[in-house]
Amino acid sequence: KPMTIITIGMAGAGKSTFVQRINSYLHSLDPPSPPYILNLDPAVTHVPYEANIDIRDTVDYQEVMKQYNLGPNGGILTALNLFTTKFDQVLRLVEKRAEEVNHVILDTPGQIEIFTWSASGSIITDAIASSLPTVVAYVIDTPRTTAPATFMSNMLYACSILYKTKLPFILVFNKTDVQPHDFALEWMTDFEEFQRALATHDGTRDAEGEPTYMNSLMNSMSLVLDEFYKNLKAVGVSSVTGQGIKEFFDAVEASREEYEKYTPLLHDLPR
Ligand code: GDP
Repeated sequence: KPMTIITIGMAGAGKSTFVQRINSYLHSLDPPSPPYILNLDPAVTHVPYEANIDIRDTVDYQEVMKQYNLGPNGGILTALNLFTTKFDQVLRLVEKRAEEVNHVILDTPGQIEIFTWSASGSIITDAIASSLPTVVAYVIDTPRTTAPATFMSNMLYACSILYKTKLPFILVFNKTDVQPHDFALEWMTDFEEFQRALATHDGTRDAEGEPTYMNSLMNSMSLVLDEFYKNLKAVGVSSVTGQGIKEFFDAVEASREEYEKYTPLLHDLPR
């Protein structure tokens, strides 16, 4: 069975570039292993790859905005809702091709919360995950996450997505050509290292040099996150140079085992 990769990431993290890169990597294998790609972003003007199924072929998001008198976010969400009503047909198409492909890739809307916090996002995720082994690839803008507080916010967001989807999870530290991700791995494997980084950061000491409320909150949360890190995989990639993409696919294969072991239990699926 093909492995489904759901790509999620904050706007600007490099999600589209990443999907383009993993697509071209799979094409370049010997023998080539072209994936089946679904674009779920109705508002994207240009996708740098050829999608097999494109939400834009089904719903015109500009038209939806006009017709329902919505702003951009409402338009994207409504377009996704309309598309979701037909997702059983989409799933049948995917299942038909499942014999021939090794990977199915889902590219999600650029506004991350439209997918992660909507009923449609959950319906699509659950539908695909109950049909095929599935992994979430959470794309992170590494150069923009080097400040301890930003790093932790980003990890908490990832944690909430893991908690909502209950699927195998890969943290994809993107843009390692600009900023290597070793600092992140260090913080993830040794929370004392992270706490040290926090201690030298602004706002963690008050005028008297005493630790502030923020400092103790972040220290406690780093302990919680320590538990979270144990349950996921992290890879560093550059979607521009292609560095680390092979390691990403190793993590995808490892996630297949994890899916088979835990997902039916977590999702109450027939075993
Ligand atoms: P999206 O909004 O998450 O889909 O992000 P895009 O794929 O449009 O990328 C946002 C910006 O980051 C673009 O200017 C990309 O060229 C750049 N970018 C994406 N991946 C990388 C990378 O691995 N390295 C570098 N240096 N830039 C990248």
